[in-house]
Amino acid sequence: MAKNLQSVRGMRDILPEQSSSWQFIENIARELFNSYGYKELRTPIIESTELFKRSIGDATDIVEKEMYTFEDRNGDSLTLRPEGTAGCVRAGMQHGLFHNQQQRIWYIGPMFRHERPQKGRYRGFYQAGIETYGIDGPDIDAEIIAIAARFWKKLGFKKVRLEINSLGSNEARQAYREILIEYFSKNEDQLDEDSKRRLNKNPLRILDTKNPKMADLVSKAPDLLDYLDDESKIHFEGLKTRLDIMGIEYQVNSRLVRGIDYYNRTVFEWITDELGAQGTICAGGRYDGLVKQLGGRETSACGFGIGLDRLQLLVEEQKLDQSNYQPHIYLVLAGEGADIAGLALAEMLRDTHPQLRLLVNGGSGSFKSQLKRADNSGADYAFILGENEVKESTITVKPLRNKELDQQTLSQENLDEFIKTNLL
Ligand code: ATP
Ligand code: MG
Repeated sequence: MAKNLQSVRGMRDILPEQSSSWQFIENIARELFNSYGYKELRTPIIESTELFKRSIGDATDIVEKEMYTFEDRNGDSLTLRPEGTAGCVRAGMQHGLFHNQQQRIWYIGPMFRHERPQKGRYRGFYQAGIETYGIDGPDIDAEIIAIAARFWKKLGFKKVRLEINSLGSNEARQAYREILIEYFSKNEDQLDEDSKRRLNKNPLRILDTKNPKMADLVSKAPDLLDYLDDESKIHFEGLKTRLDIMGIEYQVNSRLVRGIDYYNRTVFEWITDELGAQGTICAGGRYDGLVKQLGGRETSACGFGIGLDRLQLLVEEQKLDQSNYQPHIYLVLAGEGADIAGLALAEMLRDTHPQLRLLVNGGSGSFKSQLKRADNSGADYAFILGENEVKESTITVKPLRNKELDQQTLSQENLDEFIKTNLL
């Protein structure tokens, strides 16, 4: 195929064979979020570049090197959204969702980051996320963590662990920042290029390094939790108490800082060891300063983002997909008048049995080739409407999977009973 007709590097097609595991995950997500009283917010995939620069932060990987930014025909700088939070905050401010109100919001959709593609890391990927606004206590931090925990349970994931940390108030973080700069400056010869660049701009991010050569230096760095302000300490204790009460296990990881600037107080990640290096499947925390930073009123905020592509890899590898979208019936239409009669019959069956998955043969074909299609479709039964069946208002029912069952010819009047007892 001509090169320009291939998908763009790092952007993926989800083929019909894989879409059932995607739907399995997304259906659970929607039902779960709704069941906690959260409501969906759909925002555009394109936003102004400034929104992401001002919210995610200039010295982050995303803004420095990962955004798909372009000028539109008017010369405005636009960006394909790299994450979901900025758009939610923008929409909330624009539509007055934050005025003396609490909001519990979810979203699902595609995100775009120009990264090096590898297993679990793509340039076009999907996230599901939750955002809450106007709720300041640790109760909501605990609630959203519980939602994630329940998500893993429903998906059938067993080995996911939770790491939590507190970044404290902005002031506490500022003080800690100075101490970190001092510490890393003293050891500047041990810093890699990225970290040297971050030293004065964003020293906390050095703690987030994935470079094993710096592990020792990072492990000996001053501990963020020793610099927490009292209120943040109380908040963090409140979160831990609630997690304990709900039976949600966690580890405190004082090196966990997250890659985005807007977080304060609680941050957390859910990690699996079953996906290699791309093990973080959910990441989030509190970002009380963001709404104000973008020009709104002071608004408490807390949320997370889940990497759905990584969930899908786990579901596929561990065969966890419980959904079944295979047809119950493949309707074979062989013989004079069967194609017309069959269409009417199929619609009637669909009226009577809304849950029925029924595939009707398309584009004629010999009896034999239709039966072959029936078999390939994965249907449980072929319903055969031939010349005789049309004349006599019957259907021949041929089991395709269970070879112990006999083929039988039923009067069309008795089909409903057959479907109810054998298929639904
Ligand atoms: P990482 O450290 O893996 O780059 P991140 O800190 O950049 O992650 P977030 O911005 O917190 O990730 O996004 C939340 C989640 O979205 C991640 O934990 C991950 O599961 C998923 N995610 C992020 N980037 C990608 C990507 N390029 N491809 C697939 N999933 C991704
Ligand atoms: Mg990243």
